[in-house]
Amino acid sequence: MDTEKRKPYLGTPQATIAILDKYKFVFQKKYGQNFLIDPHVLDRIMEAAGITPEDFVLEIGPGIGTMTQYLAANAREVTAVEIDRALIPILHDTLSGFDNVEIINEDILKLDIRALAQRKNGGRPIKVVANLPYYITTPIIMGLFESRVPVESITIMVQKEVADRMQTGPGSKDYGALSLAVQYYADPEIVANVPPNCFMPRPNVGSSVIRLKSHPTPVVDVKDEKLMFRLIRASFNQRRKTLVNGLKNSPDLSFTKEQIEAAVTAIGKPLNIRGEALTLEEFAGLANAFLSQQRT
Ligand code: SAM
Repeated sequence: MDTEKRKPYLGTPQATIAILDKYKFVFQKKYGQNFLIDPHVLDRIMEAAGITPEDFVLEIGPGIGTMTQYLAANAREVTAVEIDRALIPILHDTLSGFDNVEIINEDILKLDIRALAQRKNGGRPIKVVANLPYYITTPIIMGLFESRVPVESITIMVQKEVADRMQTGPGSKDYGALSLAVQYYADPEIVANVPPNCFMPRPNVGSSVIRLKSHPTPVVDVKDEKLMFRLIRASFNQRRKTLVNGLKNSPDLSFTKEQIEAAVTAIGKPLNIRGEALTLEEFAGLANAFLSQQRT
């Protein structure tokens, strides 16, 4: 292959406008389309994702292929999954100089990513990199983790506020079910804040690049993961209430007040504590305390 061709050339306002004009592309608001037009941000994402020539990378929402070019230049192989049919001929054009990219026209939420990881990487952990459509950030991330797709790291551009929620701990107003869910599966680190002028069109909010590195082994000992997440959801659904009342009022749980008080006491917490004060480890302990009640 001609190595000269394998240099990314998209990623500037001029190159982006030229492609959009060539194909008379019309932005679809419903797909959260904000294309990156800053090569420094693209370099930063590549650096944070640590892509090597051994890596298989899944890119979610390649747009016109800007970041895909950068990924293809660094990785062994890239699969880019794009929902918007109008972008497919553009992607075939902008990625024609790269022989290691597969383009799939599909909704990422409907794709069997486990099967893809098996086919492309022999089931070994994959890297996911994306400038995510903000309207489905949480379902995409949780879908990847909960379906147990083998993932080494997820390096993604998200709304700044969502990145803050993923990275924070007890005591912050941003702390919630998303923080705990992400931290159960991965170690989050915000690696860059990105202003609206780095995108076309400009989004109304600030963005951040966050890297989620999957834990190689579980960080908490929890016997019933599903119960722990039900407890977490119930606690944060009624944030202003005490943990005991939040769990008591939850339609998703059927513990008696006595059982709840006994479990809270078992993890060494006062009965007036709020759920938002509990760490991941304490939520795991609480779930285990309920389970041991059922066994006695
Ligand atoms: N990666 C490109 C970039 O950085 O310039 C585009 C990023 S743009 C924020 C998000 C992209 O995700 C758009 O191309 C959009 O069409 C695509 N998209 C939106 N929803 C999707 C879905 N459910 N499955 C796959 N792609 C989706």
